[in-house]
Amino acid sequence: MNLNDIVKMQDLDLNNKKVVVRVDYNVPLKDGKVDNPKRITATEKTVKYLLEKGCRIVLMSHLGRPKGKVVEEYSLAPLVPEIEKAMGVKVHFASDCIGPEADEVVAAAKGGEIVLLENLRFHPEEEANDKEFAKKLAKHGEVFIQDAFGTVHRAHASTSAITEFLPSAAGFLIQKEVEFLGGALETPKRPFAAIIGGAKVSDKIMVLNNLLDKVNVLVVGGGMAYTFLKALGYTVGTSLLEEDKMEEAKNIMQKAKDKGVKLLLPIDHLCALEFAECVPTIITDGQDIPAGYMGLDIGPKTIKLFDEELAKCKTIFWNGPVGVFEMPSYQKGSFAIANTLVRLTKEGVITIIGGGDSLNVLKKAKISTSEVSHASTGGGASMEFVEGKELPGLTALLKKK
Ligand code: AMP
Repeated sequence: MNLNDIVKMQDLDLNNKKVVVRVDYNVPLKDGKVDNPKRITATEKTVKYLLEKGCRIVLMSHLGRPKGKVVEEYSLAPLVPEIEKAMGVKVHFASDCIGPEADEVVAAAKGGEIVLLENLRFHPEEEANDKEFAKKLAKHGEVFIQDAFGTVHRAHASTSAITEFLPSAAGFLIQKEVEFLGGALETPKRPFAAIIGGAKVSDKIMVLNNLLDKVNVLVVGGGMAYTFLKALGYTVGTSLLEEDKMEEAKNIMQKAKDKGVKLLLPIDHLCALEFAECVPTIITDGQDIPAGYMGLDIGPKTIKLFDEELAKCKTIFWNGPVGVFEMPSYQKGSFAIANTLVRLTKEGVITIIGGGDSLNVLKKAKISTSEVSHASTGGGASMEFVEGKELPGLTALLKKK
């Protein structure tokens, strides 16, 4: 799927329309206040575009996992002042997302104003993708805009069923995700490299298999690399190993060979006797890890090799740290990858970070997400996109449904 496949909000006549917008305001709260407003400010472009068009905007979101019940700590009410600050207009709050009170608050709001509905997940019908519930949400507007990328892998009433009742289009956040993730997978500037790290092969089998059909270079690091190395006959000491996935690792390596994809594994390792900070470490000479030691990061030769290979590429996708970056002693490899990406972005390379723990690496390395071409905001959603799975919330926005 790429940007041309979906209906964009700019494709619709939105002048003075009543618009329902699905946002991802699943923000952290502390002492009844928004602790980090990033998810709110991230929607500024979409919301302000609609405000300029004189739209009456009804924002809807989930927060936490209230599991279909009203749970006060997951109320969206504390977000009102933050939204007003970000968007510069009055925000009315409806203490339920459907029903007479919601209808009343929505009806009282004028063009150029915003209504925030209470947590969608206070109703079990939201996650059940219930049509009647979706119809009630749809009643709040004439057009539906989807801008919550983090939820598009779920078929919920506010991501899927609602699109049966309203003309629907993608907001700017969704568009950016589809432009970069879809663009990389369908029409990448080549050579195209993917760096896949993280703890387990089992979590990444689908990603690896799908990427092998797309990339020229596949870099495998992190805990999962040891299963590949063991499958090749190297010793891995006490490193993370999934013996039952060694066959799968062999298949992936064979597939890479058959497709002419260059698959790179670590050529040296930073190891310790225990999974801990402040313990003596060694750097191996080669790919073998001595008995009793566990690999916790890639070594300096690997850092150099990965950097040199990535520097030959025009598009790079990264998902998963190449070491136990949570501990300062083992973050050098992941930081090096992050810095390589920042440098190459400046040189015009398209660099995409696929959510989750790689974003935490950036944060720890004090690198802003604006220093790479695109840092995906949807952990699960971006993984499923790269796995090649159908995302119901995006399918619902296709031009030809
Ligand atoms: P994932 O969520 O699959 O991307 O995995 C991220 C986790 O992989 C992080 O918590 C890292 O600490 C872990 N990880 C990366 N490299 C290693 C390694 N060499 N040994 C154990 N865990 C690792």
